[in-house]
Amino acid sequence: MTRNKGFTLLEMMFVIVVLSLLVAVAIPRFRGVRDDAEVQSCRMRLANIATAEEMHYAKHGRYTENRNSDLTPYLKNIDRLMCPKSKEPYIIAATDSTYKVSCPSGHGHIDEGAASWE
Ligand SMILES: [Zn+2]
Repeated sequence: MTRNKGFTLLEMMFVIVVLSLLVAVAIPRFRGVRDDAEVQSCRMRLANIATAEEMHYAKHGRYTENRNSDLTPYLKNIDRLMCPKSKEPYIIAATDSTYKVSCPSGHGHIDEGAASWE
């Protein structure tokens, strides 16, 4: 008695259904992880900008007036003044003695060193 080697149509359909279920479960989870990573990246950028403001204050005795030119010496990449998730520029409100850096998408803000993550 000889037996054909290979899979039957029923076996192949079963494998395809199982793989489809695995993909259907995995894709939303990966998407959520990516969103969380972008929010964390946004908060790190806010912290870097706050550190740059503090460094500017330590050197000049006041916070920045023109964020692009004044923060350039303290930030490695000045193009990172925007939220990585929404691509909107950060709101930097600085006076001589106070500053506040916030994400326009609501991922958080830093107010004179005190961070608040929404
Ligand atoms: Zn953001």
